[in-house]
Amino acid sequence: MSTQIPPRALPQLDLDNKAFWTGGQNGELLIHKCGDCGYYVHPPVNFCPECDGRDVEPQPVSGRGTVETFTVVHKQWVPELRVPYVLALVTIEEQDDVRLATNIVNCEAEDVRFGMPVRVLFERHEDVWTPLFEPDSAG
Ligand SMILES: [Zn+2]
Repeated sequence: MSTQIPPRALPQLDLDNKAFWTGGQNGELLIHKCGDCGYYVHPPVNFCPECDGRDVEPQPVSGRGTVETFTVVHKQWVPELRVPYVLALVTIEEQDDVRLATNIVNCEAEDVRFGMPVRVLFERHEDVWTPLFEPDSAG
């Protein structure tokens, strides 16, 4: 896989976040969605903060979004880390307050722009499929 990616601490999986971190196994970005009002809930919890509903289940989203904000990191924290890399908040296209902390990959750091269309891809580490984003050339 790409060597642009910084080594990362793997998340502790629990019942609420397992779908988010393993949906990439099937190529799906899974975001919790309220079955009562349709609100996407992220980070994943088992109730809806909008309507207090309990019918909240992970649902696949398109995997498309835009770069809300980003930071180019030049510091090489560990020897195997390739710099610079891009830390970003990506807003999913389905709902503009669902923002994922992620990395932008498969492009030069200086080419990343605010509002840039991106699409998800997954990087597997053990039993975790970390959602990353790359430029969406079709967008
Ligand atoms: Zn709801």
